[in-house]
Amino acid sequence: MRILSSYLSGSWQRGQGHSNTLFNAATGAPIAETSTAGLDLDAALQYGRDVGGPALRSLTFTERGALLTAMSVALRDHREALIDLAAENMGATRGDAKFDIDGASGTLAFYGQLASRLGDTAWLLDGDQIRLSRSKRFVGQHILTPRRGVAIHINAFNFPAWNMAEKAACALLAGVPVLAKPGTATALTAWRIAQLWVEEAGLPAGAFQLLCGAVGSLLDHVQPQDCIVFTGSGDTAVKIKTHPQVLARNVPVNVEADSLNAAVLGPDVEVGSDTFHMFLTEVIRELTQKAGQKCTAIRRILIPAALLDDAVAGLCERLDQHVIGDPTDRLTTIGALSTPSQKRDVDAGVAALEASGAERIWGDPTSAPAAGYYVAPQLFLSKDGVNAAFVHDHEVFGPVATVLPYDGSVTEAAAIVARGGGCLVTSVFADDRDWVGPLLLEMAPSHGRLMWGSARIADQGTGHGAVMPGLMHGGPGRAGGGAELGGERGLTFYLQRTAIQGDSALLKRLFGAAD
Ligand code: NAP
Repeated sequence: MRILSSYLSGSWQRGQGHSNTLFNAATGAPIAETSTAGLDLDAALQYGRDVGGPALRSLTFTERGALLTAMSVALRDHREALIDLAAENMGATRGDAKFDIDGASGTLAFYGQLASRLGDTAWLLDGDQIRLSRSKRFVGQHILTPRRGVAIHINAFNFPAWNMAEKAACALLAGVPVLAKPGTATALTAWRIAQLWVEEAGLPAGAFQLLCGAVGSLLDHVQPQDCIVFTGSGDTAVKIKTHPQVLARNVPVNVEADSLNAAVLGPDVEVGSDTFHMFLTEVIRELTQKAGQKCTAIRRILIPAALLDDAVAGLCERLDQHVIGDPTDRLTTIGALSTPSQKRDVDAGVAALEASGAERIWGDPTSAPAAGYYVAPQLFLSKDGVNAAFVHDHEVFGPVATVLPYDGSVTEAAAIVARGGGCLVTSVFADDRDWVGPLLLEMAPSHGRLMWGSARIADQGTGHGAVMPGLMHGGPGRAGGGAELGGERGLTFYLQRTAIQGDSALLKRLFGAAD
């Protein structure tokens, strides 16, 4: 049995006493243990502030970018071994594991390159000088400097590599040390990646720490210059945001939570057209990839009533081609869910969906392998549109989605999507720009990202579910209200904006001028 330790205050440390067990998702066999009991988390945060922060702040963006590139290379060099760990711990197929691990190395590489654009400075100018009086001399200039605390990254179980890497990329490039806490149930991959970064990426002491296991008393020790970036369920987000020390110290919290993402098929789309096929491809990929355990997965599928039969037939035909089973078998397209509690939650969600009146139109729950944590893909139909119960309020975090017919109007499509209460991403598949334009504008305030799938990009799009590091990731309302990535925008959470007033020429001499 592997024992997973934490990397804190410059050394690998094992917790005492009660430990959490990690399981093989395909068989249910125990594979590793971890404990954080008795670890000195107060000292670890202080070590990050005292040692990691100054070391990172002494580096320019270009030099920090080189660290990110080295972290990316470490992942690429050990890609095959990491894919095997993901299959073992998470039930991930090879494709699912690559999505996580390549997403992690790709995001680090992206930010490594972005660093060279930011140049040989250690902080950022924010906009131009602003004239404050009649004279041109008295002005204000905003600057962005790294916070002096630790970036605490609390991650979800479903993307142990990408989640840890995308957060670390932005914080480290901003000049803020990281303490990462992966979801315990799937921490094996994150733990191995942390080892690789410590051994191979040349990170300065204190720049990166790992808490592998339960969060324990970590949040009792946060200070005003620390910040918290959380990915996970809405319930845990509330606990973090209302933690007494977080509230008392006004520690900023960025939340990425549940999301009832949608796909909307436009009424102009011809059956069999490129746009129609793109719609089918994206919906089925989102239903099956990572067995539906993606924050960006499509949970609600809006289809104009006139296209319902053809579109549902196309979806079912594609689902027929999928194979659920052993994630290490190259023929398998859908692996297991990652944890026993995840399987329990998804089974309960399916039962509630049926009880709400949704009709099962594809999928036999008994067809999934009995051992491990498998759940068969299932497609439901609800004709209640905006009034449908359950589907607009609960995220079933597995290979499950619901078709919602609508009348083909922008008004009804927007109203149904809005019932999700704020989403990470919705995709619209249509070629009639006069129809798409108003829908995108109507949906934009309740989304962090919108994808317009059309014949013009049918063979080029990166897909509904792929989070691109140059684009905003996050969403309002139910999605948590957070914002990550978005290129340079992803750094701002870790930087303090300060307005400096003074003489224009002197300020230019000190800080330079915006391009
Ligand atoms: P979770 O149960 O909320 O756990 C998330 C993280 O919070 C884990 O590391 C967990 O640690 C930790 N945690 C639990 N209780 C805590 C507390 N009281 N204080 C501080 N941290 C605490 O969520 P999950 O089951 O891992 O993830 C599934 C959810 O994440 C889904 O709802 C999904 O939509 C969402 N998600 C969102 C995004 C996004 O970008 N928006 C991405 C991926 C997933 P332990 O593992 O040790 O319990």
